[in-house]
Amino acid sequence: MSVTPAPTRGASTATERTPRVTAGAAAHPGPHPGWESGFGELLHRDPEIAGLLLGEADRQSAGLQLIAAENFTSPAVLAALGSPLANKYAEGYPGARHHGGCELVDLAERIAVDRAKALFGAEHANVQPHSGSAAVLAAYAALLRPGDPVLAMALRQGGHLTHGSAANISGRWYDFTGYGVDARTGLVDYAQVRALARAHRPRAIVCGSISYPRHIDYARFREIADEVGAYLIVDAAHPIGLVAGGAAPNPVPYADVVCATTHKVLRGPRGGLILCRVRLAERIDRAVYPLTQGGAQMHTIAAKAVAFGEAATVAFTAYAHQVVANGRALAAGLAAEGLDLATGGTDTHLITADVAPLGLDALTARARLAAARVVLDTCGLAHAPVRGLRLGTAAVTTQGMGEAEMTRIAELLGTALRGGDTGHMARAGVAELAGRFPPYPAHM
Ligand SMILES: *Cc1c(COP(=O)(O)O)cnc(C)c1O
Repeated sequence: MSVTPAPTRGASTATERTPRVTAGAAAHPGPHPGWESGFGELLHRDPEIAGLLLGEADRQSAGLQLIAAENFTSPAVLAALGSPLANKYAEGYPGARHHGGCELVDLAERIAVDRAKALFGAEHANVQPHSGSAAVLAAYAALLRPGDPVLAMALRQGGHLTHGSAANISGRWYDFTGYGVDARTGLVDYAQVRALARAHRPRAIVCGSISYPRHIDYARFREIADEVGAYLIVDAAHPIGLVAGGAAPNPVPYADVVCATTHKVLRGPRGGLILCRVRLAERIDRAVYPLTQGGAQMHTIAAKAVAFGEAATVAFTAYAHQVVANGRALAAGLAAEGLDLATGGTDTHLITADVAPLGLDALTARARLAAARVVLDTCGLAHAPVRGLRLGTAAVTTQGMGEAEMTRIAELLGTALRGGDTGHMARAGVAELAGRFPPYPAHM
C-alpha cells in the first residue's frame, strides 16, 4: 500500500526551521512546522531541553558506553520514535481498538508482530509491553494467581527486580523461591533448581538474569518444569538480540512464554516483547491490555517493527556474532589485567567481574572508570558478599569496534583502575578510541 506523505503545513518555511536567538518567546505556539524538522524546532522553541539533548549525545559519543543493557539504536528507529505515531491513541489490538483512526497504526502493529514471530520462530507475539518489566509482570498476570509459588534466580545471584524482589510487586504478590549458581563454577546449579522445584512445586519457573554471562540450558529447564508441572517463563531481556542474530540459543521452542526487551543487544527502542505459544496467546494479550496496561505506544511499536526488520538482516547476524567475539576478547583482556571474571569468561555480550584482586571495591572502581569516561554498572556477585562490575559489548560493537579495540579497552580499564598518575592516560586513550568510532558518524 502507499502511504500519503504528511501534508506540508503553511508555517513550514525555511526561516521557520532556522533556530532564532530570541527562542520564539513572543511567537504563537502553533501551527507546527513540518514534524520532520523536529530538532531544529526544539532548538528554536526550547533551547534549554535541546541543549540537554545535544549534551547527552556528546556524552554518549565522547566516552565508552559499557553498560551491558545499553546500545545505540539506529537513526531509522529514532525517526519512528519521533514521528506523529506518538500522537495516536490505540487501546486494544489491531482490528479491535477502542479508538477511531487506527487503520495505519494497526498495520504498523501487525507488521511488528509478524516480524517478531518470523525473527524468533514464535507462534504468537505481543509487542505492546512498555518495558521488559511490564512484559514479565504481564506474563505473571496471565499465568499466576496471587500467592502462587514461583521459582526464579535469587536476586543476589543475578535475578532481576521482577523475579521476586520484596521492593517489587512480584515479591509482594507471589511466593518466590530463589535458586543460584554453583559456588565453584559460577554456572546455574541445575541440580539445585530441580531439588527446589520438587520441594516447592512452583506454578512457574523463571529463568533469565541481569548478570549471568553464559548461555542458559533451556532444555534442562523445560525438563524440570515438566517434571513438576510448572510453566516455564524465560526472561530473555539480555540475550534476545543475540538470539535474533543467531549468536545465542533460542528459548522459544522450550518456553511457554518468553519475555524480552527490545532495547538491549536487539538495538531497538526502549520497550518490551512477549513471545508465546498460540494456546496462551489470548491470555497473554489480555494480561498486557487491559489487565496491566492502557493504550499502546504506537510510535514505539513502529520503532520495534523497524528494529525487528533490521535484526533480520545479514548485517545484524554479523553484528550479533561480533558482539560475542568482542565479549570474549574483552573478557580475556580483563582477566589479563587481574580482574576475576564470574564463570571465568562469557558466551555473550555480558561480563561480570570482581575487582577485589586489584585491591578495589566496586564503587571506587566505577568512579575511577567514570573519571576516564568509561561508563558501566556495579552489580552483585554470586560468589562473594561484595559487589563487582558488570559490562557489555553491545554498544561499542555497534560503533564498529572489533577484537583489537576490546584488547585496547581492557588495557585502558586496567590503567584507569590502577589509578594514580596514569588516570589521565586512560582518559586520553578512551577519548582517542571513542573519537575513531562515533556512534552517529553523520552528526560528527
Ligand atoms: C533489563 C531486564 C529487565 C527489565 O527491563 P526494563 O525495560 O528495564 O523494565 C527484566 N529482566 C531482565 C533479566 C533484565 O535484564
